[in-house]
Amino acid sequence: MFGLKKTVTEKEHTSSYYAATANDTSHYPKLEGNKKADVVVIGGGFSGVNTALELVEKGFSVVLLEAKRIAWGATGRNGGQIICGIGDPDKFSRTIGKKGVTAIYDMGYEAGDIIRERVAKYTIDCDLKWGYCDVAIKPRHMKEFAQWQAHSKKNGNPHQLQLLDEKEVKQFVNSDNYIGGLFNPTGNGHVHPLNLCAGEAHAANELGVEIFEQSKVINIEHGSRVTVHTDCGSVNAKYVVLCGNAYMGELVPKLAKKILPSNSSVIATAPLSSEIINTIMPADVAVCDPRTALDYFRLSADKRLLFGGLSNYTGLEPKDLKGTMATKMLKVFPELKGINIDFGWSGQMGIGLNRMPQLGKLADNVFYVQAYSGHGVAPTHMMARVIAEAIDGKSERFDILAKIHHYSFPGGKLFRRPALAIGMMYYKILDEL
Ligand SMILES: Cc1cc2nc3c(=O)[nH]c(=O)nc-3n(C[C@H](O)[C@H](O)[C@H](O)COP(=O)(O)OP(=O)(O)OC[C@H]3O[C@@H](n4cnc5c(N)ncnc54)[C@H](O)[C@@H]3O)c2cc1C
Repeated sequence: MFGLKKTVTEKEHTSSYYAATANDTSHYPKLEGNKKADVVVIGGGFSGVNTALELVEKGFSVVLLEAKRIAWGATGRNGGQIICGIGDPDKFSRTIGKKGVTAIYDMGYEAGDIIRERVAKYTIDCDLKWGYCDVAIKPRHMKEFAQWQAHSKKNGNPHQLQLLDEKEVKQFVNSDNYIGGLFNPTGNGHVHPLNLCAGEAHAANELGVEIFEQSKVINIEHGSRVTVHTDCGSVNAKYVVLCGNAYMGELVPKLAKKILPSNSSVIATAPLSSEIINTIMPADVAVCDPRTALDYFRLSADKRLLFGGLSNYTGLEPKDLKGTMATKMLKVFPELKGINIDFGWSGQMGIGLNRMPQLGKLADNVFYVQAYSGHGVAPTHMMARVIAEAIDGKSERFDILAKIHHYSFPGGKLFRRPALAIGMMYYKILDEL
């Protein structure tokens, strides 16, 4: 395809639009031999890279181990929608108190600021844009948006949300599917996630983080210091931070039980003409609908429509990914019939039962974070900061989040997926009401 860099091979990253337009195609070495550090971080997605970056900025020596490539997992495959907010903290007020709820709301707003500041500080070229529109399909969605707008004002959201009626929403998304919306001009937005994460990794590496790719951790030896092993080496450190999320498999069975890896898929059309863009997406904002099995979409920097969603209810990748997702896209924008779908890919996100990121410690020197339940681009940045603060001895915010209890999925490994399918069907029925 004209204008696309093709230096990143499919073997390394999935064959996504992001991999085809990656700025940084440099490789980090594989771990060979034994190393020592203050902290070893496992997993090179947003969670791991930003934990490493926050720690090195505080003066810690850090080794980061990634099984494949930096941003190979959900981080380099997602819809690129920056959605601030960390779960629904009000649900946990009995456990964390009013102060805890307020602290989590504030962290939700700070999450977006971290991205804003990081991109500016390290001059990361990642197509960052602000502006986001939730769209309503049913009248009850408009009621929920109005409540959310009032609630958000009360909770000190520094960004003003604007309710849109049926006519106004068309300035952002011109589809007959939507009867209104809620516009957030400055708090949420969109980004090329692979380029953002690669830029953050580059910054961390420049500051002294030792990064190793193709270095899968296969064993963790616990003790007053921790040693993690790959097939060709090991790292001995005071602390370990586990950031493998939905791709970590059974490395730590206790964490695997609390997370369900679930598939979401994205397609990228061929670049669209200005005429089509002015018709369907006149403002360059990210868009999301409020259903559980939601559609999310936005324009890329080179004016493709990136359209994503849950492709089915089994949590597995559909056989005909491009066809399945194109059918969904045409329901929103029938004008795109006949347009070429240049890319189609999918990734695994970690779903947790209560939809709140799971953050905690398995021992005094073993930290973990996982389960962003499909909303991780901004929250990963905040969780990374909170873990780095805790390692640095300031655990007030960590303690609030770690108090929240996370149940395991019932039925063990074999039954987790059917359980999700049944759960999703239930929500699909609710979505239709
Ligand atoms: C298709 C899709 C669309 C999405 N869209 C959005 C969106 O628009 N907005 C949003 O906010 N969120 C979205 N998400 C969710 C978001 O991408 C994730 O929440 C976020 O990227 C999680 O980052 P992470 O670093 O925790 O995990 P990941 O990015 O999955 O990174 C984990 C890394 O750990 C590595 N790893 C695992 N085990 C080991 C091991 N043993 N040793 C070494 N390394 C290991 C993996 O190789 C991987 O690179 C989407 C997710 C998907 C899959």
